[in-house]
Formats: sequence, C-alpha cells, structure tokens
Amino acid sequence: MTLEARVFAYLRTKNIRITRHIQTVLSIIVAKNTPIDAKTIHKRVISQDQFIDLSTIHRILDRLHRIELLEALYGERSKFYELSSQFLPHHHHFTCIECGEIIDIDICMINPIIESISNVGTPLSHSFEIKGICNNCK
Ligand SMILES: [Zn+2]
Ligand SMILES: [Zn+2]
Ligand SMILES: [Zn+2]
Repeated sequence: MTLEARVFAYLRTKNIRITRHIQTVLSIIVAKNTPIDAKTIHKRVISQDQFIDLSTIHRILDRLHRIELLEALYGERSKFYELSSQFLPHHHHFTCIECGEIIDIDICMINPIIESISNVGTPLSHSFEIKGICNNCK
C-alpha cells in the first residue's frame, strides 16, 4: 500500500469524510515529505490552480492533528505539520532560527545512550531537537 493509500485508509477508520479539500491538503503533505506549515500549503494549493482559503487549511490541519493523523511541530514562527510517527520512520528535527523552517534529520544517535542506561530502566520514547541556521539562510 502506498503512503497516501495508508493515510486515506486511516481517515476512513476515523469516519472522516474525504473531501476534495482534505485530499488536496494531504497530497501536498505526503508529497513534501518533510514538515510543512499552513502558509506553504496555501501557496502550493494556489500554484496548482486551486483555491482553498488559509483559514480552511488551518481548520483541516487542526482536525487531522486531533485524530492523530498529523503531528504538530512548534516552529519559531509557525506551527508545522507532518504525518504522525505511525506513518513515518523514526527521526528528529532541525529548526532554523532564521527562516523558521523545520528540517527532518534521519539519523538518530540515541541507541548507544539507550544501551548504556539499561541499568536504569527501559526507555520507551525520546525526543531531541536541534536549533541552528539552515544552509539556505547561511
Ligand atoms: Zn533557514
Ligand atoms: Zn519530521
Ligand atoms: Zn531518535
């Protein structure tokens, strides 16, 4: 099953009616495959010659976040969204303090740490965030 098919199957299990707007917003999120904010989604919608106003996009994102299809990430200037962890491989984020962009980092350095704390307990999850200046802003 493609990622998009899994996403829509999940929506059906939550009894969400898959409107054209939801379809458009989700296909942009799946295609971008890194965190995206409402304004960027709005720009892409317009570049596809479609129209969904920004407040509708906010409403859709909010709703999909509430049913845990999307994860919300709090950027410097705006909230970013990406598919929740059940749809994406484990990863971390780099937040640019200049442009506010949130970039996925695929490597995780935590495994050696997890092994070294086995005498403390069994960790179930962890998070860390790196802030900096992205290559576009440098
Ligand atoms: Zn930047
Ligand atoms: Zn991410
Ligand atoms: Zn990790």
